[in-house]
Amino acid sequence: QGRKPGPGAMSLVYRAGRSAAEIQQQYGISDVVKLSSNELPWGPLPSVRDAILRAVTGDDGANRYPDLRATELRATIAAYHGVDPGRVAVGAGSGGILAQLVRSELRGDSAVLVPGPTFDLYRIMSTWTGASVHVADMPATVPDVDTLVAGLRPETRLVFLASPNNPTGGALGADRVARIASRVPEGCIVVVDEAYADFVTACHIDQGAALIDRYDNVVVLRTFSKAHGLAGLRIGYLLGHPAIVDRVGALSTPFHIGTVGQVAAIESVRHAAQVRERAERVVAERERMAATIRAMGLGLGWSQANFLWLPAGSGAARLAQALEQRGLVPRLFDGKGVRVTVARAADNDRVLAVLGELDLRDT
Ligand code: PMP
Repeated sequence: QGRKPGPGAMSLVYRAGRSAAEIQQQYGISDVVKLSSNELPWGPLPSVRDAILRAVTGDDGANRYPDLRATELRATIAAYHGVDPGRVAVGAGSGGILAQLVRSELRGDSAVLVPGPTFDLYRIMSTWTGASVHVADMPATVPDVDTLVAGLRPETRLVFLASPNNPTGGALGADRVARIASRVPEGCIVVVDEAYADFVTACHIDQGAALIDRYDNVVVLRTFSKAHGLAGLRIGYLLGHPAIVDRVGALSTPFHIGTVGQVAAIESVRHAAQVRERAERVVAERERMAATIRAMGLGLGWSQANFLWLPAGSGAARLAQALEQRGLVPRLFDGKGVRVTVARAADNDRVLAVLGELDLRDT
């Protein structure tokens, strides 16, 4: 049994939830599927796998240091978004970029604002710097601008907005982000975390990259961990004003993006159409699951991501346990809900079968 840290402890290990191996051991199930981290269910695209092998196996391969500045990767990302490479900083996943961002922007007397519930890493990493974090709880799927703005203080330096939001799945239109960006205090940056942007299909959700030209205080975070299916390689990036990019980039550790990550990400962007095609398969499954769950009469969040949010309230732990007993590893938010990654159709059917058997309306 792992020990949980006490209240107030900021452990990333605790955040990661239960592992597939633990569930396998506890219930003696061999076919355990991890649905707790919103990963893609497929391995790298063939072209990405080939590029990785070519890059590391020759004499000028793994024996050489990677490109310190990830020049080609940043240029490839910049071209993809139609921005200048000076507006791109890369990091070890968007989590790595977040760690650099909080260290570059926050001090002990800074404040941070996040709508809740949202991705816990914003709060955890901000507190590393000694900054105080205000979580503005929002019952609605999408943060209300006035409620959020009411939580601003003169010393607020970062506002985090995940679009789509983790764990609830709702996405923000750029107009809403713009309204928030125009009301934050001088020196405050609005961080739009678009980790799940490739799964967005709602027509009124436009993506944040367009905003960085108009608002010097908006930055966008993206990752190769979700739609690109490269979570294990740790590559993420920030798009924003060159001055912010320089400050964040100055806090990179040397060679923080390895050769494999750089090569794989470049190749993946070159095959963006195939990445999109895979994302569309996930979205089709998401919509199929959502329709089935709604037909069961169960509550379900509006999700624009590759996961579903089941707002089971006090029944959340029971639901998570029922899924675990069938070899499905969800992410439990105790007392609030359960988040499940949309995966392969057969595994999604297993989730639907558990939901169909449980009478959650009793809970
Ligand atoms: N942002 C959001 C909203 C996420 O859900 C996640 C991962 N679950 C991340 C960032 C971090 O992803 P990574 O560090 O793998 O890029």
